[in-house]
Amino acid sequence: MTRSNAFPSDPHTCMYDWCSTEHGRTVHALDEDHRSVGCAVTVRVRNAAEDGEGRFEEWEVGLLRRSSDEETWFVVERPGDASIALSRDAARALRRAIDSDRNLRGFSATGDSGE
Ligand SMILES: [Zn+2]
Repeated sequence: MTRSNAFPSDPHTCMYDWCSTEHGRTVHALDEDHRSVGCAVTVRVRNAAEDGEGRFEEWEVGLLRRSSDEETWFVVERPGDASIALSRDAARALRRAIDSDRNLRGFSATGDSGE
């Protein structure tokens, strides 16, 4: 997902509006998977077991639908770490959890929970 859209998109080459794959111009079969242009985000993170201020990392999020998939996945890629792919239902469940829990909603809106 780290590649940018090197060629102008031809909307007729793929059925997915979000897809940036230049179908038919790639060398490997896996490159024919449907991928969105990655969206880079700078996030401050730490492992849950760590102390301290955490560290800034560049994450990339986007959509992926392999040729063998029957659904599109929301992918989160971390540098030097395994990426994770969430189903649409999983992404919605996370969003609902944040929106429906007072503490999580307050945390994401203003800062630490209870502030
Ligand atoms: Zn495509």
